[in-house]
Amino acid sequence: MTATRSADAVVVGGGVIGAAIAYHLALAGLERVVVCEQSRIASQGATARSGGLLRLHHTTACDTRLTALSLPTFEQWGEVIGGDCGYRRTGFAMLVGEEHVAALRVNTAVAAEAMSYERVEVIDPDQAGTLFPGLDLAGVAAVAYEPSGGYADPAATATSLIAAARRIGVSEAEGTRVVRVLEREGAVTGVETSAGRIEAPLVVLTSGAWGAESAAHLGVEVPVVPRRIGLAQVALPGAGRRGSDNQLPTCIDDTIGSYFRPGGTDRFFFGVQSHPDVDLEQGAAPLTGDEVNAAVAAVSRRVPAVTSAPLVGTRAGYDGYTPDKRPVIGPAGPDGLYLALGFSGGGFKLAPAVAELAAREISEGEAVIGKAGEPLLEPYRPQRFANGNLITPEAPYAHI
Ligand SMILES: Cc1cc2nc3c(=O)[nH]c(=O)nc-3n(C[C@H](O)[C@H](O)[C@H](O)COP(=O)(O)OP(=O)(O)OC[C@H]3O[C@@H](n4cnc5c(N)ncnc54)[C@H](O)[C@@H]3O)c2cc1C
Repeated sequence: MTATRSADAVVVGGGVIGAAIAYHLALAGLERVVVCEQSRIASQGATARSGGLLRLHHTTACDTRLTALSLPTFEQWGEVIGGDCGYRRTGFAMLVGEEHVAALRVNTAVAAEAMSYERVEVIDPDQAGTLFPGLDLAGVAAVAYEPSGGYADPAATATSLIAAARRIGVSEAEGTRVVRVLEREGAVTGVETSAGRIEAPLVVLTSGAWGAESAAHLGVEVPVVPRRIGLAQVALPGAGRRGSDNQLPTCIDDTIGSYFRPGGTDRFFFGVQSHPDVDLEQGAAPLTGDEVNAAVAAVSRRVPAVTSAPLVGTRAGYDGYTPDKRPVIGPAGPDGLYLALGFSGGGFKLAPAVAELAAREISEGEAVIGKAGEPLLEPYRPQRFANGNLITPEAPYAHI
């Protein structure tokens, strides 16, 4: 027979969001926080496969504000969290065509307001070409440039968060699947796991593409569907080296519908559009040659050197997607149940901010208000789908 344990909180899922929330719950004073991960920390879900792009630029002000709270943590990781998240400052460039220049200016102004004008500016393609000679900017009308943008290592980020959490009392239960959330008289009482029961008054579901399936029997329904997304890596000498003829930024290119970044000094990573068939039990199927070739064809319009660059590797993973491609964050169902999942391909950069805000509102019992007076997590509430309050971009592009 398996023993019953007890905790102040159970976090379900050991990706970057679960690791960050566990850390912040412990910082907020919860003494016994347990992270249940069905596999190993940061190995099964999106976090382990993520591109790790860090950028302020978004098309929705609520996303921009959250990112503005997150980025300083990545930049000062050693002092704030301890350890190394693999942050590399490469500069970030958002590329748009003529029809989206006005939107680019709107989104850049929102980003500047959320952080500062030193952080983001609109430059013309010639300036971008001088900064990053590896780019062919044909068809690009304007560029939003963030000198501090770049990338970090998502697996290192999650493991360093878990290490920091462990130092302040959090424990992990790896290889432990939460089968269902337990409830009595309208309040959470714990979880039933593959290794026995854990009693707890607070359960936080950070189960990514697996959504809220462990609470579905309680009537908690969120429209999160798993989607397979991919990344390919080629050898491109100088891609990440300052002053090189191949130097490239971390980039989202709306004109070709792709994103990419350097990796170290001599590698180059780019997004691969992936087929929608998923089987969560099987894990994400490897990218096919056709999928990678299509991505190479698209990205080589912007980075011509990719055409002849040797493929070094590919990876694919599942993330949970919602109808408005924004995460689900907040209380749902019985008292003591909190959701932070469905990050729809963009959760890595948000993790520090989401975790801090979620832990604060859980421990203080009220929503955290931003500097412009807005409750920062309010737009992301689980109830928005039933209420028809989906998040819509204020200044959209063709692809993001
Ligand atoms: C190829 C790719 C590229 C990406 N690029 C970027 C990027 O450049 N920038 C960015 O910001 N984001 C990016 N993302 C998205 C980002 O990585 C995810 O949004 C983020 O990692 C989600 O973290 P998570 O903790 O919510 O989910 P996950 O990392 O998926 O973690 C969820 C965990 O929950 C566990 N779990 C689920 N159910 C249970 C259960 N019942 N019991 C126990 N454990 C359970 C799973 O095993 C898993 O480990 C990318 C994703 C992919 C796949």
